Amino acid sequence: MSEAAARWRAVRDLVDAECRRLERDPAGVTLIVVTKFHPVEMISELLEAGARDFGESRHQDASLKAEALAGQDLTWHFVGQIQSNKARAIAKYADVLHSLDRDSVVDALATAERRVQGFIELNLTDDPGRGGVNSADEMLRLAERISSTETIDLRGVMAVAPLGDDPVAAFDRVATLSSILTQAHPHATDISAGMSADWEAALAAGATHLRIGTSITGNRPIPR
Ligand SMILES: *Cc1c(COP(=O)(O)O)cnc(C)c1O
Repeated sequence: MSEAAARWRAVRDLVDAECRRLERDPAGVTLIVVTKFHPVEMISELLEAGARDFGESRHQDASLKAEALAGQDLTWHFVGQIQSNKARAIAKYADVLHSLDRDSVVDALATAERRVQGFIELNLTDDPGRGGVNSADEMLRLAERISSTETIDLRGVMAVAPLGDDPVAAFDRVATLSSILTQAHPHATDISAGMSADWEAALAAGATHLRIGTSITGNRPIPR
């Protein structure tokens, strides 16, 4: 087994154990391996070991990897910023888009050639220019727009805990916003939150999708 595959197995075991401690069903938690900047060979090794969910953040890299692994039994998650002029192209290979954050992206996906799953990205920082919606109102408005498309199945909310802040407080806010969303959209119960450094806090706050990179892949090569 490759090092990455061994680390994936170890992280999955930790996540399963933590789920049992929290009295949650491990099957209800999707572990996404974020493979950005790593070669397609690593994804093949992880597939061989049993991993099925992979996350990428840059369209060009992601599309090449998806092409190289076409026909394999895996789910692609797009976790990076989405440019509206790339949205339809991303929807060709990405099954789940975690970073829906504005009308223009949703409008572009409304004409996608197939149905995708989507999360609304929440901006938890004080900087309104960062990706993600900035308030509950903005979230609900975007959710309405998503629901009016025939191509996006709204799954829930996604967030990145701000660097240096207390992740427990950040994920508390995510849980609150998630419950506001589900009041209007009862099926949109999923929460995409938690990375290598803070997944335990995210899981405790109800995360259903963990996006783990470096703990599994090792350090990322410097992006070209
Ligand atoms: C890179 C990335 C991750 C994984 O981060 P690690 O700290 O390496 O686990 C998760 N989510 C998003 C949106 C990312 O860009």
